[in-house]
Amino acid sequence: MKELGDRLSPVGEHSGKTVTVIGGGVAGMSAACALAEAGLRVQLVDRRGYLGGRASSYLHPGVGEVIDNCQHVLFGCCTNLIGFYRRIGAADRIHWTSQMTMIEPGGRRSRLGPFECGPLRLPAPLHGAPSFLSAKAFSFRDKLALGRAMRALMRPGAADDPAESLGDWLRRHGQTEGALNRFWRLVIASALNAEIDSIAVPYAAKVIRELFLNSAEAGSMGMSCIPLSELYAGVTPYLAERGGGVRLNTAVEGAAWDGAQWTVRTRSGEVTSEFVVVALPFEAMAQLLPHLPPVEGAAELAGKIARHEHWPICSVHLWFDREITELEHAVLLDREIHWMYNQSRLQTGRGGHYIELVVSATRAFAALPREQAIRQAVAELEEFFPRAKDAKLLKAALVKEVRATFGVPPGIDTARPAAVSPWPRLFLAGDWTATGWPSTMESAARSGHLAAEAVCAAMGTPRMVLDADLRLRGLMRLLSL
Ligand SMILES: Cc1cc2nc3c(=O)[nH]c(=O)nc-3n(C[C@H](O)[C@H](O)[C@H](O)COP(=O)(O)OP(=O)(O)OC[C@H]3O[C@@H](n4cnc5c(N)ncnc54)[C@H](O)[C@@H]3O)c2cc1C
Repeated sequence: MKELGDRLSPVGEHSGKTVTVIGGGVAGMSAACALAEAGLRVQLVDRRGYLGGRASSYLHPGVGEVIDNCQHVLFGCCTNLIGFYRRIGAADRIHWTSQMTMIEPGGRRSRLGPFECGPLRLPAPLHGAPSFLSAKAFSFRDKLALGRAMRALMRPGAADDPAESLGDWLRRHGQTEGALNRFWRLVIASALNAEIDSIAVPYAAKVIRELFLNSAEAGSMGMSCIPLSELYAGVTPYLAERGGGVRLNTAVEGAAWDGAQWTVRTRSGEVTSEFVVVALPFEAMAQLLPHLPPVEGAAELAGKIARHEHWPICSVHLWFDREITELEHAVLLDREIHWMYNQSRLQTGRGGHYIELVVSATRAFAALPREQAIRQAVAELEEFFPRAKDAKLLKAALVKEVRATFGVPPGIDTARPAAVSPWPRLFLAGDWTATGWPSTMESAARSGHLAAEAVCAAMGTPRMVLDADLRLRGLMRLLSL
């Protein structure tokens, strides 16, 4: 493997300009690295002692293990996130797979994935059709209903009304109970972390097109082989080599503008710079607003922020005395837990028999006390993997992320602000800003890249930072015309 320094892109020429990026999540890190590449001196500031924000890992005191706050998956269509990983030399730490195993209670399995027979491939959107048609998890009527909905989604404009909910759209397209429960609710909970009646249909359409229709490459799934915060090890040297740095354990409390530069106030002193990028989640942005200079447009921004709401995700981390499955990951049907990740197989150098279970979009599970949540998760796991009944549970952790993601209900687009803010030389990023993507690492990376473009434009040196979308493949090129 190449040394970290070899994998980072070369140090560019300094513009002499300075920028403070507030928030060291994926949005802030992406903005910071893109701006350093553009020649600015960047200070990246975060209140925590590690980078990554809502996509990070830490030493869990209860189990004495470094765990991710939750398994994070990306897809081939996440071009900006992958671009950020490339920039910091982390792209080769992602394990990619095109195969997905769906398991019913009792253990019956269906495999979904692109058709491959030697060199023979089917063109998109037919690449997944053979495995879908042979999947035992769906009845013939479910398959007909899903096929009808997929065909509708292939037509441009067929699911573009931002005021319509996915639930209403699905009812208009005659979906069966099996299709609703085993496909729509599951895919939507996994990708958009909300119920079908709380999602604007264009967001669901985007996810379905990217994951199942546009190309096999767009729908391939990626998972980090190392704990999430270790993925970002390249960020600090990347910024340092370009004249910048990272300040951890530095909570920002406010900022002042003197007509030429910003002074960002933190609990451990002040940081001055000509530009600022605020890359905070919407709740933290709301708290910062009263501590920014008064300006026309601030009240409107506060009104937009107030329209956002968050959704929880829970993860249950279990260590057994033996292996309970040979699968790396699986989708679990008809129960509260949606995903199983076999972390001992997925993460390099991870010993033991460590299984992570993910429960998305359910406020009821998030409200359960710890012992009850773990008991329920283990009982459900045994329905899918009988070997778990004989295994001894050595230790367990429950991670509840109550503010995991923001929702994308009908009409939400008017509440997602662009990178250019009402303040001079202060720009906004964060997964909740106007990226067109739901609450994901890709939305965060896009927002960081859009903010970097806005800073470069304000400096008078416009620059393309956003990574291009993947091209449509096969028949999808014709169907999209
Ligand atoms: C449990 C869970 C599972 C998820 N699963 C997936 C998944 O599988 N795939 C996917 O793509 N996405 C997933 N997401 C969503 C994804 O994690 C987020 O969309 C993304 O990480 C948001 O990045 P961000 O930079 O916009 O915000 P954040 O990650 O929230 O970053 C904001 C940063 O600001 C810092 N901060 C806050 N206040 C201050 C302050 N006053 N001063 C200084 N710093 C401050 C925080 O410490 C944080 O580091 C999941 C999220 C969670 C929580």
